[in-house]
Amino acid sequence: MTATADVVVVGAGPAGAATAALLAQRGHHVVLADRAAFPRDKACGEYLSPGAVDALERLGALPAISAADAAWLAGMQVSTARASFLINYGRAERRPALGIRRAVLDALLVEHAQRAGARVAERVHVRGAALEGERVVGVHVRDGDRVSLVRAHVTVAADGARSPVARSLRLDAPVRWPRRLGIVAHYAATSRDADHGVMEVGKHGYCGIAPVGERVVAAGLVTPLRAKRRGESTAAFFERQLATIPRAAEALAGMKRVTGFRGVAPLARRVRSVAGPGYLLVGDAAGFLDPFTGEGLFRALRGAELAADATERALERRDALPVGYAAERAAAFEEKERVCVLVQTFLASGPLFDYPLRRLAPPPPLAALFSDVLGDCAPARLALRPRYLAALLRP
Ligand SMILES: Cc1cc2nc3c(=O)[nH]c(=O)nc-3n(C[C@H](O)[C@H](O)[C@H](O)COP(=O)(O)OP(=O)(O)OC[C@H]3O[C@@H](n4cnc5c(N)ncnc54)[C@H](O)[C@@H]3O)c2cc1C
Repeated sequence: MTATADVVVVGAGPAGAATAALLAQRGHHVVLADRAAFPRDKACGEYLSPGAVDALERLGALPAISAADAAWLAGMQVSTARASFLINYGRAERRPALGIRRAVLDALLVEHAQRAGARVAERVHVRGAALEGERVVGVHVRDGDRVSLVRAHVTVAADGARSPVARSLRLDAPVRWPRRLGIVAHYAATSRDADHGVMEVGKHGYCGIAPVGERVVAAGLVTPLRAKRRGESTAAFFERQLATIPRAAEALAGMKRVTGFRGVAPLARRVRSVAGPGYLLVGDAAGFLDPFTGEGLFRALRGAELAADATERALERRDALPVGYAAERAAAFEEKERVCVLVQTFLASGPLFDYPLRRLAPPPPLAALFSDVLGDCAPARLALRPRYLAALLRP
């Protein structure tokens, strides 16, 4: 494996592959390293918001992705036992959302990075950041029994929710709330005509079900971490929790499960800082809340654009400090995060969630704006305006 580069990107998921592609397109020498070989699977609901699809288009990756087995979705029907709201992108001026298996999406993005000129190194296990004083100068890589150093002016940690690079720099921060786990599996679709996904909300958790190809549906269940019994198998736990959300159980009852279960716990992640001398964090490595509002892939792809710009600026500076990156991320994501925390607060409260859902149920304007904010295609601040919140929450 190359021992020096302008940039080493650790993790070739959507955040890393997109960052590597953008930097390689601009002529930088980029190494994109992942411990896996692609195609590889990843526990995910596999639902891309319209805003995430826009980011794929800006990256130049959309033509190849559109040609793959995927499902264009007009939206997502969010329901409890008593209320329902359609997040609707079926309106003429809106781009649809996309359901696509991560094994397909991520492999296409890695190919895209490679074609742009990034050097892709698979089955490379990164142990952590290499430091000289306070500055990150690359990463330590395990190669069989040996540990070697890959030097780079800038190190991009795109190594996901357990980020070994962030951990080695002691950047992880405690997460007290929400404490949830997620389990996903694929099912064979019984019909081809579903043009939107469903999100069924139960008392203690929720289950998202959406087509991700012509004949395949992804189901993702999210529940409180404490609900899992010691020693209980993932399959038994999934079935037990699914039974508490009867509409989701009904929707899956006629379908045959075609993969095993993949689980992640805990889901939420926080970090103390997203950048420092010689490094920056992007995608889940930089933090994640919950998949309910489906913005993980949007944040990975939009974050990659910000990371590529900041890396380029850092390459120009002798101290390789990605100045401005944290502030740019805050400007891009902070308001949507607030909307997500608001949604999570109602979700955690059980029956209270019905209340805003009923308000959103009738057609525009309340519902249209909320759809667009959740879909990352309208500024989240619009949903935080006092007049909007008052209309949504007034008695
Ligand atoms: C249950 C669940 C459901 C979800 N559903 C949705 C959804 O429907 N829509 C949505 O937008 N988001 C969803 N998300 C979030 C989404 O999956 C993530 O936000 C997204 O995968 C982040 O991409 P990433 O590139 O940052 O990380 P990842 O996709 O996790 O990629 C990280 C990469 O780093 C590599 N890596 C890790 N450690 C090392 C190492 N030591 N050395 C080398 N490589 C390493 C891994 O192999 C991996 O390829 C969901 C998440 C979960 C857990």
